Amino acid sequence: MAANKPSMTASEIARETIKQMAVRRVEPTPDNYTQIYFEIAGKPAKEDAASALRKALKQLPHDSLEQTNWINRWEKLLKQDNWQGLGELLTESMQQQLSHSTKWPKAIRTLLQAWDDKRSGVDVARKRETLERVLINFGNDESLSDKLIGMANHWLPGGGGGDGIQLTDISDAATPAAAVESTNTETLPADVQQFHGAFTILQTLLKQTLQLGLIPRLEGYPDLQTEAVALQESTERAKKLKEWEALAKALKALLMRVEVIGAKEDDVRGDIIDLLHLLLSNIGELVAEDSWLSGQVYAVQSIISGPLDRAKLKQAEKSLKEVVYKQGLVKHSLVEARNSFKTLISTFIDKLKYMGEASELYSGKIESYAQELSQTDDLIKINELVNHLMRDTSVMQTDIMRSHDDLLNQQRVAVDTQQRMEKLQEELQQLSEVVRIDQLTGVLNRRGMDEAFSTEIARYRRSGELLSVALLDIDNFKMLNDQHGHAAGDSALKHLASVVKRAVRPTDIVTRMGGEEFVVILPNTNLEEAVVTMSRLQRALTKEYFLGNNQKLLITFSAGVALFKTEDDVNSILSRADQAMYLAKKRGKNRVMTEVDLQANP
Ligand code: GH3
Ligand code: MG
Ligand code: MG
Repeated sequence: MAANKPSMTASEIARETIKQMAVRRVEPTPDNYTQIYFEIAGKPAKEDAASALRKALKQLPHDSLEQTNWINRWEKLLKQDNWQGLGELLTESMQQQLSHSTKWPKAIRTLLQAWDDKRSGVDVARKRETLERVLINFGNDESLSDKLIGMANHWLPGGGGGDGIQLTDISDAATPAAAVESTNTETLPADVQQFHGAFTILQTLLKQTLQLGLIPRLEGYPDLQTEAVALQESTERAKKLKEWEALAKALKALLMRVEVIGAKEDDVRGDIIDLLHLLLSNIGELVAEDSWLSGQVYAVQSIISGPLDRAKLKQAEKSLKEVVYKQGLVKHSLVEARNSFKTLISTFIDKLKYMGEASELYSGKIESYAQELSQTDDLIKINELVNHLMRDTSVMQTDIMRSHDDLLNQQRVAVDTQQRMEKLQEELQQLSEVVRIDQLTGVLNRRGMDEAFSTEIARYRRSGELLSVALLDIDNFKMLNDQHGHAAGDSALKHLASVVKRAVRPTDIVTRMGGEEFVVILPNTNLEEAVVTMSRLQRALTKEYFLGNNQKLLITFSAGVALFKTEDDVNSILSRADQAMYLAKKRGKNRVMTEVDLQANP
């Protein structure tokens, strides 16, 4: 080691230093030069600023990401020997420190103020819970003071603390999992709260959609249902973005499979409806003779023609049950009647045969008695023969009487059955009233019309869709009855009903209000469209004759159309349609008038 020589000049020390560097074979760096220079000069080696800074930086805590980043920036600038950059960093750090030192008093002041403020409606227990969560999640974070200010502001009036959703947002924003995301964001607390509020709402919605919307619909598909239940559980657990991405992918795959099932179910539903139509049209043909039954069948057919809902299906089911019930009754009474007539006929034949045999037997006997009578004159013998004859004829008479009584009994049974069938028919007519179908024409009767009106008026009030009503009355119907008979009149009514049914839309409702007056309810139809429909009907009637007493007869009608208004009820709308119909009669019949024409012709 070089001696301390205080007498040496600076240039001598410098020369000695260079020599020593050569002797010691050290690298000729400024650091090594400085070290040896001070050694020779006999002064302690001066620590340079850079290494002093490095040493200090090493002793600083590396607790948070921000701290580590800040230390790395210093070390990097030191390495680059960038003293200007180091100067700027120092200024920046000092400014930050300054703002931190002012933020904290503000945070503490706001917190104290908000803690005792009761106006937000948040109690102290809830405040403590929220504060603890914020401390757990942001305790080591530089943004802690900002988070505390944001939290406290929500407990002060105007800070949204009184709002239930916002409150939930604060506590939910501070859940550990949610904090993972918010630690790396520079967003303000209010933004974070909003984001988490929206997130929580969406999370709950998704869970409920699965639980109440999808899972119950997958009743017949256990695999898919299990998958949907698993997904619903994942919505509660998933916190990280990756987990949500996986959940979204699984949900998408599940929905695609559900869609395939939905399409299949739609096909199956369509097939079932087709089958039902086929079945009904066959029943319709089989029971064509029975207007009650064909009316029921028509009712069911028109129900399943329109868009289906559960109420309509229930109605169709009820009508079909009536059909089945009535068929059961008719079949039962028919079997009964057939059996009793069969018994009657077979008894009659039996008796006839017996009578035949008996009379043959007796006629043989009478012949032999007659022969014996002709051959004998013996009174005793004759007396004997007459006695035999008397006895035989009285037996024969008893036999015949008995047969006659049996026949009468059987006839009484048959008549009874016949009467019971007629009574049954009457009861069925009453049953028909109950199901609101007109016996003769098969369209809705007056009661059915009232019911249909209440449904359609309720729909009108709910949906605001237009509702038109047409009332039509056959022209000169009395004359038709008078000229061709009541039966021809009945056929005319049936004919009109069937033409009307075919000409209107499946959603339109055809009803017989009474006599030769019909009402057509036209949902979702304006006045002009209703007039067009009625005119189309008139054309259809002129094309389609009907036969009355083997004659081609033509019927026409006059119609009045009115549009339902908010203040209307069944009576008021029917009254306007009726007045319009009368105007059509007055104008020469076979035409359609509307309530607007009424205003022009008061
Ligand atoms: P207008 O052109 O003015 O309507 O004259 P109209 O003859 O059609 O009207 P009116 O009211 O004078 O006669 C209606 C007739 O309809 C009288 C009634 O006997 C007949 N009628 C009502 N219901 C039935 C029914 O169910 N069957 C038959 N065949 N006739 C009926
Ligand atoms: Mg009339
Ligand atoms: Mg008439």
